[in-house]
Amino acid sequence: MTVVAIPDESPFPITNLPFGIGDPGDGHPRAWVAVGDHAVDLDALHAAGVFHGIGIPPTCFARGDLNAYLALGRDVWSSVRARLRDALEGSSLTRVPERSIVRRSRLRMDIPTRPVDYVDFYSSIHHATNLGRMFRPDGDALLPNWRRIPIGYHGRTGTLVPDGTPVRRPAGYRLVDGEPEVGPSGRLDIELEVGTVVGVGNAVGEPIPIGRAVEHIYGMCLVNDWSARDIQAFEYQPLGPFLGKSFATSVSPWLVSLEALEPFRVAPPTQDPPPADYLTTDEPWGFDLHLEVWLDTEAMRAAGLPPVCISETGFADMYWTPAQQLAHLTVNGAATHPGDLFASGTVSGAELGSEGSLIELAANGDRPIRLPDGTERAFLHDGDRVELRGWAGADPRTRIGLGTVSGTVLDCRAPDGRGRT
Ligand code: MN
Repeated sequence: MTVVAIPDESPFPITNLPFGIGDPGDGHPRAWVAVGDHAVDLDALHAAGVFHGIGIPPTCFARGDLNAYLALGRDVWSSVRARLRDALEGSSLTRVPERSIVRRSRLRMDIPTRPVDYVDFYSSIHHATNLGRMFRPDGDALLPNWRRIPIGYHGRTGTLVPDGTPVRRPAGYRLVDGEPEVGPSGRLDIELEVGTVVGVGNAVGEPIPIGRAVEHIYGMCLVNDWSARDIQAFEYQPLGPFLGKSFATSVSPWLVSLEALEPFRVAPPTQDPPPADYLTTDEPWGFDLHLEVWLDTEAMRAAGLPPVCISETGFADMYWTPAQQLAHLTVNGAATHPGDLFASGTVSGAELGSEGSLIELAANGDRPIRLPDGTERAFLHDGDRVELRGWAGADPRTRIGLGTVSGTVLDCRAPDGRGRT
């Protein structure tokens, strides 16, 4: 028995205990733990003595981000989790105050951390191959560096946005009939990704050895790396993605800890050629995650039609793992900080219907997705709403959820700010 009833097959059973930042309506965003359809105020639990003696600063959970908590390290995270289970299962001597429990739907959720840096990787071999074929039809799909290092770029933390934030269609330079022209992106896309969040960071000049990644990684969430493919295609050479990516990146509200994900760790695929020593570990850094993309359009909503699942895929066969990504991004001495986010790259499977972006699902416009009302999509239209969903494990009785993250496309504003295009 828990202090709140948890519905069967809830994404947030007592084995999950994800943390997030929510405002219950009093203007004081703070840290909460999700339990079934409810959330429990971590600051109130701290005040009630649930975490007494663990070494948590008084205001740790009263802030608008989890950064200070993540900085405390793995022993503290583990102790907090154990105390939470005791308190929420009613076996603790410290009672959970009634007023610290709210329905989750009452909270206005923010992103869980304030990252200093955000990196986006490119670690699915299926996605990299599919995109390589489309962007460079005359060359090798995978460039020679792809199997040697986890390819990535530094993204923009200032435009990481919470669940539900509308996404304005960007304008910029793109080719129209082969000629560069400024205007609204006509090829707005999504990228289904899993984010990894840094707990304890590292100092400048002190790389994180892959064998110690477990001490530095706090947990995982869902990320939608919205992408304007036409702007991206025009700008990406020679320095990589820029404005085609940085207008919005949606982050899911509930951060699931590595400890909760422990039962779902699996061996990643064998890598060929074998990676360099600094990228080599025997630890199982793959994760058995199931991921989905759901879409509904303005017309579907008007007709009372529910969202439709347009992609289902798995995370277990990602080529490069979060531990390899962290070891790689710090190997040159770059620092990371508590709350930093690095995303997996688009998660695509090998089969049709398991691709994590529209440009792949609709074969660059050649195979539009048919929707239940008979309309088609190659790329996103204004009013389209995309929701990513994810969970760990196949058995509904034991699986744990990553929750969801969604956003709706708004019409473009002219780049000079004088009105609509
Ligand atoms: Mn991406």
